[in-house]
Amino acid sequence: MRTQIHMCANIAGLLKRPDRELDGLFTCEEGYEVNAKGARQYLCKQLALGHRVIAMGKCDNFDPQEGCLGHPVPDMEMKDTTFERAVCRSLSAPTVEN
Ligand SMILES: [Zn+2]
Repeated sequence: MRTQIHMCANIAGLLKRPDRELDGLFTCEEGYEVNAKGARQYLCKQLALGHRVIAMGKCDNFDPQEGCLGHPVPDMEMKDTTFERAVCRSLSAPTVEN
C-alpha cells in the first residue's frame, strides 16, 4: 500500500502573485474560470477562515493547515501507465510553497 498526496498551495504565497498568474487559475463550482479579482476574494476569504493552504484539485482528506493528509493507494493502481493524452491542470499553477 502506498500513499498518494495531493499538491497544495500556500494561500499567502498565491496572494503575492500578479493578477496575470491568478487569472483563470481557479474554476468556480459552476465551471467558469475565475478572474484575478475573484481569485483574490476567494483567497482572502480562506485566510480569514484561518486557513493556511488550499488543495490543488479534488481532495477529500484535506487539512487547511497541513495540506493533504494522504490517501492509501493499492500498489496495483500505481503501476506505470502510458497515456495517449493526459491533462494536469496543476502544472499551470504557481509553484507550491510550504
Ligand atoms: Zn488529498
